[in-house]
Amino acid sequence: AAVLGLESSCDETAAAVLRADGTILAEAVLSQLREHAPFGGVVPEIAARAHLEHLPGLVRRVMAEAGLGYGDLAGVAATSGPGLIGGLIVGASVGKGIALAHRLPFVAVNHLEAHALTATLPGLVPGGARFPYLLLLISGGHCQCVAVEGVGRYRRLGTTLDDAVGEAFDKAAKLLGLPWPGGPALERLAAQGDAARFPLPRPLLGRAGCDFSFSGLKTAVANVLARLPGPPGEQEKADLAAGFQAAAAAVLADRAGHALAMLPGATALVVAGGVAANAAVRAGLQAVAAKRGLPLVAPPIRLCTDNAVMVAWAGVERLQRGLVDELGHAPRPRWPLEELAG
Ligand code: ATP
Ligand code: MG
Ligand code: FE
Repeated sequence: AAVLGLESSCDETAAAVLRADGTILAEAVLSQLREHAPFGGVVPEIAARAHLEHLPGLVRRVMAEAGLGYGDLAGVAATSGPGLIGGLIVGASVGKGIALAHRLPFVAVNHLEAHALTATLPGLVPGGARFPYLLLLISGGHCQCVAVEGVGRYRRLGTTLDDAVGEAFDKAAKLLGLPWPGGPALERLAAQGDAARFPLPRPLLGRAGCDFSFSGLKTAVANVLARLPGPPGEQEKADLAAGFQAAAAAVLADRAGHALAMLPGATALVVAGGVAANAAVRAGLQAVAAKRGLPLVAPPIRLCTDNAVMVAWAGVERLQRGLVDELGHAPRPRWPLEELAG
């Protein structure tokens, strides 16, 4: 039996077909980077229209690639929150339409749960990560530490008080004149820079708990730029990028260390979200996990960023527990993990 997964909560349109044992039969992701780049960020209305335009074709493509008809599916899973409401409505409606037409169970997947359960995909860690583990979700829209205790059983241990870390990377990159999304470009620039030249603050470092704060770090970058006698040269930009990245990586490692101390039974530190692509961030997290004798589980980048494999996998896990949703389920732009039933 196989499950069709759909993702459309932000700026990736994605579809995937997964066997119940976790084997990926087909996967496809269309990023809307080009549509949003002129605006320097995701425009919700443009995102919704792009999902509507591309999702049906992606579904046909992955079904053909998997060599399956809709009647062969065990269910359809679609991200139904949290996220941008227009995109959520598109994905959930496409999923419900297929479920209705072919009399299949429909699963309304929480996007954060999908990120959280990716580490239990059997192909990733041999046999899959074991509960409980600590999830550090670091993307453009999310920055949180979550205790993952089982399917449907999550406790948020800490979150950002202002910006998500990916958002901070993007804003710092913009200040440095880099194109959106700035994270990858900032990392490349940082490789040429000296992190010690402009010491930047490390917000909340060493504080109790595992909340985050990144807006002060971004402001610090702006202040350094404002104090330069003229426009920054290439070397100054690289040094600032390196300083910013070092500060962000240090804060993430510190907060993750605190979160691990809050979950004494943790079997692993799992990282997800686009910022997990950053090598300096990964190195910091690796060191913190190693200090506790734990592995750092970092899914391949394509499964860290928004994708439909994780949605189909969450669908598999929920279907196996009989957790099916009504076709009347309304997508939820806000949907905290704690509100999920296991
Ligand atoms: P959501 O938060 O809903 O998952 P998103 O589109 O913001 O959606 P992702 O696609 O997972 O999340 O991640 C995108 C973010 O990751 C952007 O902020 C981007 O700048 C950041 N990012 C990607 N690569 C890197 C990198 N190498 N270094 C730092 N940040 C990066
Ligand atoms: Mg994205
Ligand atoms: Fe995401």
